[in-house]
Amino acid sequence: MPMFFDSSFIYLIPAIIFAMYAQSKVKSTFAKFLKVRTQKGYTGYQVARTILNNNRLDNIKIEITPGKMSDHYDPRSRVLRLSNDVYHGSSIAAVSVAAHEVGHAVQHSVGYAPLGIRNAIFPIAKFGSSFAMFFVFGGFILQAVNLIDIGIYLYMAAVIFQVVTLPVEFNASSRAMDMLEANGFIVKAEYSKAKQVLNAAALTYVAAMATSLAQLFRLIALRNRRA
Ligand SMILES: [Zn+2]
Repeated sequence: MPMFFDSSFIYLIPAIIFAMYAQSKVKSTFAKFLKVRTQKGYTGYQVARTILNNNRLDNIKIEITPGKMSDHYDPRSRVLRLSNDVYHGSSIAAVSVAAHEVGHAVQHSVGYAPLGIRNAIFPIAKFGSSFAMFFVFGGFILQAVNLIDIGIYLYMAAVIFQVVTLPVEFNASSRAMDMLEANGFIVKAEYSKAKQVLNAAALTYVAAMATSLAQLFRLIALRNRRA
């Protein structure tokens, strides 16, 4: 459809460049610090297990998950899944990522509000990101502004989800830094390195949000021009 390739596409370009930069930054930073061993030499598993137990989260299991940078905490099954490099590794990247994921488990156990909001929005945001364009596209073809509006609202839900993701991610990383330092898993000279890993990861969430926000503004502009 020609209207999807009009001049307003230009507004998306900075966001897309930013997102590409963030992706390459997280990959290169992660690869770099995967090769730098911590002085203390604890593995990601040891770090995660110790911090979980210190927070009375002995009941949370830790599993290995396939892939790279696939690490996550699953609140439904209460399982921490770490990629092989993180689980077995004793690099700056491994301990930083392990501690970050534990940060999410701690958020869950203490009822950290933004996480609750994020989980509540998730189903509608997931539906929204899958079907928003379908409604918008259909609305343009059928010249039905109502359909376009439904699509925009759905897209908005996906954007709100990404906005709420930011405090959740930043908070998990700041918990990670505190826990790494307090337990002596990293020494002072390594603090800034761990921060680089966590900041690079956070940047991808900022970029994803910026891209969706730019796309939302573009959809609204297209809608108003047509309506
Ligand atoms: Zn996270």
